[in-house]
Amino acid sequence: MSDTLQAVKGMNDILPDEAGLWLWFEDTVRDWLESYGYRNIRMPLVEPTALFKRAIGEVTDIVEKEMYSFEDSLNGDQLTLRPEGTASCVRAVLQHNLLYNAPQRLWYAGPMFRHERPQKGRYRQFHQVGVEALGFAGPDIDAEQIVMCARLWKKLGIRDVELQINTLGDAASRQRHREKLIAYFEQHKDALDADAQRRLYSNPLRILDTKNPAMQELVSAAPRLMDELEEDAIRHFEAVQAILKQHDIAFEINPRLVRGLDYYNRTVFEWVTTRLGAQGTICAGGRFDGLIEQIGGRPAPAMGFAMGVERLLALIQEDGMAPPPPALHVYVVHQGEQAQQLAWRVAEELRDGGVSVLLHCGGGSFKSQMKKADGSAAACAVIIGDDEVAAQAVMLKPLRGEGEQQRVGLDELKHKVRELIK
Ligand code: ATP
Ligand code: MG
Repeated sequence: MSDTLQAVKGMNDILPDEAGLWLWFEDTVRDWLESYGYRNIRMPLVEPTALFKRAIGEVTDIVEKEMYSFEDSLNGDQLTLRPEGTASCVRAVLQHNLLYNAPQRLWYAGPMFRHERPQKGRYRQFHQVGVEALGFAGPDIDAEQIVMCARLWKKLGIRDVELQINTLGDAASRQRHREKLIAYFEQHKDALDADAQRRLYSNPLRILDTKNPAMQELVSAAPRLMDELEEDAIRHFEAVQAILKQHDIAFEINPRLVRGLDYYNRTVFEWVTTRLGAQGTICAGGRFDGLIEQIGGRPAPAMGFAMGVERLLALIQEDGMAPPPPALHVYVVHQGEQAQQLAWRVAEELRDGGVSVLLHCGGGSFKSQMKKADGSAAACAVIIGDDEVAAQAVMLKPLRGEGEQQRVGLDELKHKVRELIK
């Protein structure tokens, strides 16, 4: 077996035992998004590399070192596996002119790809649910997105997540802040790590986002963007907070929350848990009023966020919440040619009535088939042999709890099964 091919490191199989949790999560998320009027959009997994460079920013972790980029060997195009969804979503909206006469509330879900060092909660193929409200300028949509997250945590039974918020202000205040930051870090050049040195002039704001413990003190004492904010941005931020308070959503203002992507302005937020170790951010987002124009559209404000599905599911599993097991109602056991024909007919008819049926395939003795039925999740077995064919009936055997095996006529089978599985 030593030369059996393995999956790419950091790209996980989701096996059937675990997939049930995923399906339940996806159903819950879909209902939740619909309840806020968000509509689904689906974009390709591969986009022109230029899209991400332009949208995310050249001097970001993602574009500098995390993208799976390659040349299309047939025509030389530069392509990238999407590392996130916002850029593609905005590209699609502009390409198809969806903002023509109405704002859009959109969501998408699926795999994202980043070349990172795999560890718990950090993979190279991971999944996000992304939510974008395009064409909305007011603080109401910012607050609504945060309130809706809180509702989802409740639906999923997730506790122990904390909300951090911040405002990044607008372009002019960021420019002033940037100049002050450069001056400050220049004074402490010796204390900067290699990443920070490199970013000092290209993107000093990102130095604040460092994960290097040795730099925390320096970063804590850095000039604060808060002190540079314009009136409008402050009022916007206060309005978001007021709505959160009305809904009893607790939050902490974290002035060092700058987010890893260049395109954010004004409101940014993260939901963080301490239960998952270092990979504690389960959901992150913010306003990106400049992005649509940056990608080539007519300027329009926007606000969005993305959740890390693997991290959310890990949290759900930690908290011991189990989704209902998938429903398998009937296991059909049969022997003999005519019995097989009847078994097929019975199985199809039960399915017509909304019953889920596993029809035994592959032959074998009654005894070995019954063992498989017992080992399955089915609530009951339907057993068909020559005697049943002759009587145009089946044996119905409950597999869980009380109840005796009984012979049941074909016309009453659906009814009897329903009684057993309710
Ligand atoms: P981090 O600081 O953990 O690298 P990020 O700022 O790069 O996160 P975003 O781009 O904001 O993350 O993505 C939104 C969410 O997607 C994150 O909060 C996280 O839950 C999840 N996520 C990001 N990268 C990964 C990854 N490599 N593996 C699993 N989940 C991820
Ligand atoms: Mg990252």
